[in-house]
Amino acid sequence: KSKSAAKGRALFFNGSVDEAVKRAFAIETELRTALLNEEISIVYQPQICVKTGNIVGVEALARWHSKKLGFVSPAEFIPIAENSGTINALGDYVIYKALFDINAFNINNAFKLNLSINISPKQLLEPNFVESVVQASEDLAFDRQFITLEITENILITDLSVVLPILLELRENNFKLSLDDFGTGYSSLSYLSNLPINEIKIDRTFIDKFLTNHQSESLVKTIIAIGDFCDFVVVAEGVETKAQLDRLTQFNCDLIQGYYFDKPLAYNDLVAKYQSCNISCD
Ligand code: C2E
Ligand code: MG
Ligand code: MG
Ligand code: MG
Repeated sequence: KSKSAAKGRALFFNGSVDEAVKRAFAIETELRTALLNEEISIVYQPQICVKTGNIVGVEALARWHSKKLGFVSPAEFIPIAENSGTINALGDYVIYKALFDINAFNINNAFKLNLSINISPKQLLEPNFVESVVQASEDLAFDRQFITLEITENILITDLSVVLPILLELRENNFKLSLDDFGTGYSSLSYLSNLPINEIKIDRTFIDKFLTNHQSESLVKTIIAIGDFCDFVVVAEGVETKAQLDRLTQFNCDLIQGYYFDKPLAYNDLVAKYQSCNISCD
């Protein structure tokens, strides 16, 4: 985490309620013009196949360098964007820009990268969400089998009878679906196997401590076993050390994402490092 992000957080959580409200208001206000002022960019964090060590895809992550507020972490501005309605324009931008970039990468490359995009609950529940994301993929001629939409486990606490048809429609259109931050929410095992998802991502908080904390270790092991049983791809996020990688390899985790391989990269850095370097694994 950058210093300014840490400072922002400290202010947010330790400051008075008044300060927190002020900051949230400032963020909300600045966010409204952030897109127009070209303050939003996207970085791409590689996902590596454990078996082969090759890159198989990237996750698109939004970055905001505000002229007024400096760097603001998505952990701080995404929830505010959700509450203020800016998330739809922001989300559309992320979808188009990420598809544009990775399409360019794939066209000029010997193998295709999968693109993972975070979709917030508000976005997913917009009446025309499926239509708009299908449209985006068509506008850019991006093969949808290479697009994974990451939804958080929390969406499942909203009415499943509302969410499920949307997920099914996305699957019918060949998008892949991933359950992000897995283990932090309220998923019940009984319906997990009935969800039309392709992938689960083990939350970083478990990877942080699973080498030293027995409970986290059991949890990580169990999530991987469940993933295997349900035929989901299992991704571990936040892998920072060789020791973590080794243990996850032992547990048969499928994909790894984390600083051990790469921090999220600007598009040019992604190209410089990975264009035509390797063949991906399936
Ligand atoms: P996420 O989707 O779970 O993304 C993973 C987060 O973990 C990213 O934080 C990434 O930079 C960070 N990370 C990955 N590997 C490591 C590591 O080895 N060590 C550490 N310390 N961190 C690692 P980031 O980019 O700050 O994003 C935070 C969250 O904001 C994301 O969590 C996601 O929920 C949300 N977000 C980011 N971009 C978007 C977006 O375009 N749309 C939506 N709806 N949400 C977004
Ligand atoms: Mg994610
Ligand atoms: Mg996550
Ligand atoms: Mg598996």
